[in-house]
Amino acid sequence: MRMVIALGGNAIKKPREKGTAAEQLRNVQETCQHIWELVRDNQVVITHGNGPQVGNILIQQEASEPYVPAMPLDICVAESQGLIGYMIQQSLRNVLQTHGVHKDVVTIISQVVVNKEDPAFKTPTKPIGPFFSQGRAEELKKEGISVMEDAGRGYRRVVPSPDPLRMVEAPVVASLLDLGIVVIAAGGGGIPVGEKAALRGIEAVIDKDLASELVAEAIEADYLIILTDVEQVALDYNKKTQQNLEILTDREAEKYLAQGHFAPGSMGPKILSAIRFLRGGGRKAIITSPGKVRDALQGEGGTHIIPHQSNQ
Ligand code: ADP
Ligand code: MG
Repeated sequence: MRMVIALGGNAIKKPREKGTAAEQLRNVQETCQHIWELVRDNQVVITHGNGPQVGNILIQQEASEPYVPAMPLDICVAESQGLIGYMIQQSLRNVLQTHGVHKDVVTIISQVVVNKEDPAFKTPTKPIGPFFSQGRAEELKKEGISVMEDAGRGYRRVVPSPDPLRMVEAPVVASLLDLGIVVIAAGGGGIPVGEKAALRGIEAVIDKDLASELVAEAIEADYLIILTDVEQVALDYNKKTQQNLEILTDREAEKYLAQGHFAPGSMGPKILSAIRFLRGGGRKAIITSPGKVRDALQGEGGTHIIPHQSNQ
């Protein structure tokens, strides 16, 4: 089977950690322990988030400005794909080798085309990178950079989060899968690029779950597996009436999404990705935690989202 496994933030950096190289590598290694059998038995693309990592890279740009020229956001995203891809590439290969499985693992620097006319460009919503003083925020505004007050914690840069349309490297990913190679792609949602006459990097970020779905459709994956820090999706999440979901159809998912059960920016895009995936021909989407993924594939736990007409 072909599958896309999307790794959430926790798989790489836990909320209370500083994010040292050793901490991140340990988390990645632990995640690889949970997924290596899936990788052995299937054609797998691994995607991942990059929020904390690209945030730190942006802090480095700001702090080193007098000495080294700051890089624009698209290049920072590319850097984060390299650093996280490297950790997964090495850890997964090591775990596979330990179990006598010889598979090549490779990271693809991924560009994702977005529409410059996407309404997201009119209202940047996604806060990224370091917090600034009001003074620095004013300077940045004069340079044409959008800055907003972030929940009383200081000023932060905000960028648009447009809908992904196409991953430029998707055909390469499909060819690598045919060769039995494990591919890490669409890191951090991919590097957003515009496509007028030529490809060109854009100051924006793409939701990693929506980008993962795009890859899953492009490679005609059977399963889209989204690993995050909850074992199951719930209705009335965090309320007394919380009800965890075992299985639901794309139609039910759409109804609950419209009713506001899934927070925008966290569970919302995962559910929307699952719906898009099934309507694009996918067989099943599973949302669960890394530790539960093996059980979930055996039908034990996790949240399974299936096509309305399916009777699986
Ligand atoms: P990731 O890095 O994996 O994308 P997110 O924080 O973006 O992680 O999304 C996972 C989070 O979504 C969970 O930790 C949970 O707090 C939140 N969440 C919001 N709505 C729901 C829901 N209905 N059911 C389960 N979790 C939900
Ligand atoms: Mg998320």
